[in-house]
Amino acid sequence: MKKADLHTHPNILKKPEQGEEFIRRAIEMGLDSVCFTDHMPFSVTGDEHDRIPFGGVGDYCRAVRELSERYGNEIEIFTGIEIDYHPLYEDEAKAVISSGEFDFILGSSHLNISGFGIPFGGGLTRTEYALFVLENYLAAARSGLFQILTHLDVYRWVFSENVFYPLEGEFDPSATEPTLREIFAEMELRDIALEVNAAPLYKKFDGDGPYPARRILDIAGEYRIRRTYGSDAHAADKVGFGYDAIKDLLI
Ligand SMILES: [Zn+2]
Ligand SMILES: [Zn+2]
Repeated sequence: MKKADLHTHPNILKKPEQGEEFIRRAIEMGLDSVCFTDHMPFSVTGDEHDRIPFGGVGDYCRAVRELSERYGNEIEIFTGIEIDYHPLYEDEAKAVISSGEFDFILGSSHLNISGFGIPFGGGLTRTEYALFVLENYLAAARSGLFQILTHLDVYRWVFSENVFYPLEGEFDPSATEPTLREIFAEMELRDIALEVNAAPLYKKFDGDGPYPARRILDIAGEYRIRRTYGSDAHAADKVGFGYDAIKDLLI
């Protein structure tokens, strides 16, 4: 199996030096390939520091391809992008995708920010919030836009940082199983890969291992779904992070 990190954020248009830093680190870590997947420009968040600037998707793809050609003898470099999916903003996602050429398009749910029709200001339980996130991943899978779904249970991070929402109650994982099964059936049907994401290993907000938690991987194991590894590195020292701990979870 090729050792590949298919989820990294060099932020190369805003921090051009990071492209080479990420590549050097990837080579050091013994990776066969790395995919740059900077965050899409997104009207909901505005021009956040770690996003491709508005109108910059073509330049971003050109910058990654230029590095890919320069370092092609040492490592395989793919052009990717991380898309914030929500049905309300699907047209925006499609416009971004069609303005570049990508090897991998990652589908993500980032519902810890406002603008997605989720009731803010309290009254939502942890279980309800997790279901909002998973319903959004289900819609993402059905959209047909993605090759990989990333950090499926990212709600674990939101649970640990109660600054985003005043969430209530204990999380009931069993309540999410029907939705997870719908997601996995759709992923199997469309050959969408499931990412095992190392971010929880270095963010250390809970002790449940990488995204998704073992319980979810066990359910996914009942379906024919490929798995990818992603460090979700936003700094060069995180490229390839935790690969050895995760590789046995990849099938
Ligand atoms: Zn993400
Ligand atoms: Zn990411």
